[in-house]
Amino acid sequence: MTSDPHTSLWRASDHGALEVPALSEDLQTDLVVIGGGFTGCSAALEAATSGANVVLLEAQTIGHGGSGRNVGLVNAGLWLPPEVIKKQIGDGPGTRLINALSVAPDEVYRLIEAHNIDCEATRNGTLHLAHAPKGVEDLQERFRQGNASGAPLQLLDREETIRRTGSQAFFGALFDPRAGAIQPLGYCRGLARAALSAGARVFERSAVTKISHSDEGWHVQSNGRRIRARHLLLATNGYIGALSGAPKPAFVPFHYCQFATAPLSDAQRARILPGGEGCWDTALVMSSLRIDRAGRVIVGGVGNLNAPGAAIHRNWAARKLAQIYPELAGVPFEHEWEGTIAMTSDHLPKVVEIGPDALSVFGYSGRGIGPGTVFGKRAARALLFGEVDALPLDIVPAYAESLRAPRAAYYEFGATLTHAVSPNPLRTSSAKRA
Ligand SMILES: Cc1cc2nc3c(=O)[nH]c(=O)nc-3n(C[C@H](O)[C@H](O)[C@H](O)COP(=O)(O)OP(=O)(O)OC[C@H]3O[C@@H](n4cnc5c(N)ncnc54)[C@H](O)[C@@H]3O)c2cc1C
Repeated sequence: MTSDPHTSLWRASDHGALEVPALSEDLQTDLVVIGGGFTGCSAALEAATSGANVVLLEAQTIGHGGSGRNVGLVNAGLWLPPEVIKKQIGDGPGTRLINALSVAPDEVYRLIEAHNIDCEATRNGTLHLAHAPKGVEDLQERFRQGNASGAPLQLLDREETIRRTGSQAFFGALFDPRAGAIQPLGYCRGLARAALSAGARVFERSAVTKISHSDEGWHVQSNGRRIRARHLLLATNGYIGALSGAPKPAFVPFHYCQFATAPLSDAQRARILPGGEGCWDTALVMSSLRIDRAGRVIVGGVGNLNAPGAAIHRNWAARKLAQIYPELAGVPFEHEWEGTIAMTSDHLPKVVEIGPDALSVFGYSGRGIGPGTVFGKRAARALLFGEVDALPLDIVPAYAESLRAPRAAYYEFGATLTHAVSPNPLRTSSAKRA
């Protein structure tokens, strides 16, 4: 088992690591992008294909952050149902955001095809699963709101849900045909490779330690070298390192862990998620379920594998697998990993002006594949070409979050407590014996 949280199934199954140098010279550029996740790589790709001179600096390696650790569900929107989004930011801005993100999967799959990105891409939709009878009511309400705003959602009954998942554990599902699943690290590296081919200069192991602004533009320090740039995009989201000269993205860290089995047999694959939809459920402390190209079942849930509750989260994952698929009870996990989600209070991303010609984009709150791709691209265009109206959200002058540490502790404590008692340890251990 790979218990180093920096090693994931995605690192083990993607063999396309980039071979790019660390920054070792002073440079001048139109746009400097800090952070090599979906947001930064998409921005660098857009800038380079538009003919701009762009430099991307990544502190570790491309996809080191959330982009290389996530579940891989390419969703067509945020967690929040449309009416909640509109209530929070108003009808006009809400509609603009919903419309921009409803086509985000189109943009992701267009890029995958255009740049021939090998990332296990499938577009078979996602299933939001009712974990309990009361979850069906939640799905019915999401179905109503989604369809009213033009989303082609389908509400599936229990029988159809059993057929699609191969599990008796769920009570219904909301199917979104616009969505799909990818190997997220492969996608992120593919974006970076496409940006390189288009002329972007990409550097790994190049942590930016200080930024400042003068009449000459932005000055960015990394590896003892200096980059001068007219425009700057901070795309560090939940993985911001030590960096002075700019307000740090403000978010509450929310940990999420995943566990993957060995590849299933062909007979098991024919029964378990035969359509390959990516899934998550309606529980308050949610969990996710999917299968990768090799046929590994991947179970995910809220929780930090670097915290005292790690053993509880591990035991929970084994019981959860047994609850969903009793025939897999006792099957060991071959990979485990975790990542930090950057949550905001209203669960909406933020585009913050951190200085002249400089933006910081963060706070996807667990939905960053489509949104990161779209926000990155449009942030690059807003900075380079002044297309601010094309951003999915208005730029704000500042953003703060209060009580971050207690709220992060509350999430972890709640997940640990829930995972200690659910699914029922006694019932799932007898299922295992059966
Ligand atoms: C466990 C988990 C599951 C998730 N599941 C899903 C999902 O199924 N679907 C979905 O849509 N979204 C999901 N998300 C959310 C999604 O992964 C993120 O929103 C997305 O990856 C954010 O991309 P990003 O490029 O903004 O940031 P990141 O991918 O986090 O990249 C930021 C990068 O900045 C670099 N960096 C930080 N500081 C510096 C510095 N000073 N100098 C240079 N570089 C720096 C970091 O090393 C990092 O590589 C999940 C997230 C996690 C953690």
